[in-house]
Amino acid sequence: MADLIHELVGCGTRLTLSSWTDPKRGIGCARDHVAARFHEIAAQSGEKLQVIVDKFEATSERTGSKPIPMENLYALLPGSDAKLAKLLFIVSGHMDSRPSNTMDTEADAPGADDDASGTAVSVECARLLSKLAASGRGTLRASILFAAVSGEEQGLLGSKHMLEWIKEKGYTVGGMLDNDIVGADTAPGGPHRVRLFSGNGEMDDADSPSRELARAIEEIDGRAAIRLIFRVDRYGRGGDHYYFYKAGLPAARFTEPLEDYTHQHQTPRTEGGIAYGDLEKYLSFKFMGDVARDNGEALRQLAMAPAPPSKPILKGAVTPDARVSWSSEEDPERAGFEILWRETTEPRWHVYDFVTTRTEIILKGVSTDNHFFAVRAVGKNGARSIAVPTEPD
Ligand SMILES: [Zn+2]
Repeated sequence: MADLIHELVGCGTRLTLSSWTDPKRGIGCARDHVAARFHEIAAQSGEKLQVIVDKFEATSERTGSKPIPMENLYALLPGSDAKLAKLLFIVSGHMDSRPSNTMDTEADAPGADDDASGTAVSVECARLLSKLAASGRGTLRASILFAAVSGEEQGLLGSKHMLEWIKEKGYTVGGMLDNDIVGADTAPGGPHRVRLFSGNGEMDDADSPSRELARAIEEIDGRAAIRLIFRVDRYGRGGDHYYFYKAGLPAARFTEPLEDYTHQHQTPRTEGGIAYGDLEKYLSFKFMGDVARDNGEALRQLAMAPAPPSKPILKGAVTPDARVSWSSEEDPERAGFEILWRETTEPRWHVYDFVTTRTEIILKGVSTDNHFFAVRAVGKNGARSIAVPTEPD
């Protein structure tokens, strides 16, 4: 991860508006280094990993309102189970960077933390999981996409395009893990938990698929590793998970514990005795390694799990018993379903019951009004899908 970040910083700037063809300076230099690393990992995994260059054009205020060429890099690890191979889990970082002025193609923009760190996490997950897939020891049933996108600093253009690409290829998004500014742990008294941001969503009562993804990740990696933040992103700011979240898909953002605002989005300089710049010397590779493992383990367990149940319904209003029903496709690898509940003020689910073959349960003497309910699928291998909250009939 340190080597890749060093190479990316060595590109001088990775502004999306900089050169795509100069191998020494600009965003094209970054693409070359990430692509080389993906190809190296693909070779080590017996070519289980497929490297894809996705070229497109995009326009925003921050492209001068004219279309500019862009590229995203993906490495795809196809799922081993034909039934689940179209269910896609994504880990993403953005390879582009920016100086203080987001239109300035000349200034240095090292972007060691923002977001060479997230790019390195995505690439490291590709290494860990393709190695696992190649060893035959772990069965990753669903597919995983390791992404390094461009255009984040010009208005989330690369991730927006990635979502279109994913839909066009016929995938369903199982979960999108955005890693952006995950490389430093500068707050005193560390080590600290990585923050995981998830938005509330727009459903009545229950919260969003993004929140369910975040809860699942916390349960997998543990409360000592993950600090859940029930907010779509840092206050007044955005990231590559945003368009996924807005589309009602499960997407969440990893970010280091406390940002130093003299680092990110700053052209390296000294001004008024203060040193500005997003430099490698501020990174913590121990912290970043943990973030990569947290991502990798979450992806591993989610990709091993059965598909989440569809359309859990809550019935039983104005009766003494709550009734929860759901549907699901046949899956010989599924052990059953967990019915989850929580107090309406409680942030996390608890298991109410486990059923093997049924797709309906009556919760005797449990009012529909005083709890929230959800269902998740459990594999024979012990892996769990994200929870799906009940909706009204
Ligand atoms: Zn960023």
